[in-house]
Amino acid sequence: MAYAYDDQNIFAKILRGEIPNNTVLETEHTLAFRDIAPKAPDHVLVIPKGPYVCFDHFCNDASAEEIVDFARAAGQVCKMLGCEPGHGGEGFRAITNAGEDGVQEVPHYHLHILAGRPMGPMLL
Ligand code: ADP
Repeated sequence: MAYAYDDQNIFAKILRGEIPNNTVLETEHTLAFRDIAPKAPDHVLVIPKGPYVCFDHFCNDASAEEIVDFARAAGQVCKMLGCEPGHGGEGFRAITNAGEDGVQEVPHYHLHILAGRPMGPMLL
């Protein structure tokens, strides 16, 4: 089944410059910005610029160039936040929610990077 992308979602508006954001990194295919309601001292969202609804959509349909750009940007964000375990940082949590069961609110794929406090166990 094809993924239906809603270009009126809030991250699409951020990408079009229609609403402001607190950018930490921008590359050719990726934007990283601070979450408006941070759940940790550092809470950054990494999003592809392409119209992908969720993680699996991105992994299945994005080009290799987009995927590499996204992964490198996410890695760079961890460096910028200084949270890389084993490299001077205390670690971080990277999570993505998908669809109804995953409680995804914004239907544009995004990776949450949370750092700056112990995260506690995953709620499973
Ligand atoms: P959930 O809200 O359940 O975490 P998502 O995984 O879809 O669902 O996360 C959406 C995230 O986007 C939330 O953490 C929310 O605070 C954030 N957010 C919503 N609007 C904005 C905005 N304008 N700028 C930055 N972050 C935003």
